[in-house]
Amino acid sequence: MTDPTSRSLFERACRVIPGGVNSPVRAFRAVGGSPVFIASAAGAHLTGAGGQRYLDYVGSWGPMILGHAHPAIVAAIQAAAARGTSYGAPTELEVRFAEALVALYPSIEMMRAVSSGTEATMGALRAARGFTGRDVVVKFEGCYHGHADFLLVKAGSGAATFGVPDSAGVPAQTAANTVTLPFNDVAALRALFASRGSEIAAVIVEPVVGNMGVVPPAPGFLEAIVSECAAAGAVSVFDEVMTGCRVARGGMQERAGIKPDMTCLGKIVGGGLPLAAYGGKRAIMEKVAPLGPVYQAGTLSGNPVAVSAGLAMLERLDDALYARLEALGARLEAGFTRAIAKHGGGACVQRVGSMITLFFTASPVRSWSDAKASDTKAFARWHAGLLARGVYWPPSQYEAAFISAAHTDADIDATIKAADEALGV
Ligand SMILES: *Cc1c(COP(=O)(O)O)cnc(C)c1O
Repeated sequence: MTDPTSRSLFERACRVIPGGVNSPVRAFRAVGGSPVFIASAAGAHLTGAGGQRYLDYVGSWGPMILGHAHPAIVAAIQAAAARGTSYGAPTELEVRFAEALVALYPSIEMMRAVSSGTEATMGALRAARGFTGRDVVVKFEGCYHGHADFLLVKAGSGAATFGVPDSAGVPAQTAANTVTLPFNDVAALRALFASRGSEIAAVIVEPVVGNMGVVPPAPGFLEAIVSECAAAGAVSVFDEVMTGCRVARGGMQERAGIKPDMTCLGKIVGGGLPLAAYGGKRAIMEKVAPLGPVYQAGTLSGNPVAVSAGLAMLERLDDALYARLEALGARLEAGFTRAIAKHGGGACVQRVGSMITLFFTASPVRSWSDAKASDTKAFARWHAGLLARGVYWPPSQYEAAFISAAHTDADIDATIKAADEALGV
């Protein structure tokens, strides 16, 4: 049960904001009930508007890998703000930010800063279409790439189908050049390239899916995307907005040892401020204005306050951090697995590094059709049980939870205990 302060704020919010929230999943509709309003956060904890404390596994949906209000990031933001919050002219900070990302991501030779992950995928795919002179974009069912019209498409299960929009307000025409395939299905990918390879501008993928819950790529799947694209003259795009600097400093491409043509980054690289990036091969990025004919712009792109936060974040991403996150993740996974076994099964834990999902499915999830089989009512009960025990877990079966460096072994153990109890509810 949500606290009375949050409930009254939610009533006010619902009068002036659609559904009371500025991004839909915050509304708790997938689990019932109403959202907790947040007053402040520090480290691994959130403080609700009603004063209650929660151990946080949402982490602002990914950015907070160091925990909330990290002193170095707060100091960088304060110092930058005092020098002026926006100039609309280039700064040394932006050069350092681009140099830092080019150094961390060997596949990125040039990049452009933007203000959201949505803008990053739009920019990357526009550049890919401009570079290839082709229109068709391929995506995978259950992958989310922001809310651009032509990406709000998934398909029926099975064979490749031409796009039908998921959202009202998206013209069928806009979605018609989006083809959707099942995630982890190399045969379907090969078949599409065999029949229509010369029409394909780009294939975009979450290299570890976070947006249907955590679903890792099957061995060979990412390699097949990159090699099919290369053979057909199409552009491979890894949307690492969530996985970038999360599953490794250099993202999933570092872990897998693969170089896509283009990469989208966001979330962590912005240090908790609105900042994202897209980049990749020089020949593709040289198509972007003002160097080339592909237009893309932004009044606040590369904003000095946001870039300062991003740089302060990037400086702190060292090997020790990822080793620690892996250990915390493994501890949580093992504890959840024990709890599930104790309660007779019916759920699966899927994890890559510090991204984790507990799926209420009998068998592991490899694709959106597997994920859809989840018992979302059981998830909702478990979520309410966690919240009642002070654990703030993402309010949807189809979202990844995130561990931060501010979580301790004791926090993880308390979460395992809460999860165990909540499974018994
Ligand atoms: C969050 C996310 C986006 C969209 O980023 P916004 O900043 O919310 O626009 C795109 N792709 C992936 C993989 C994401 O996780």
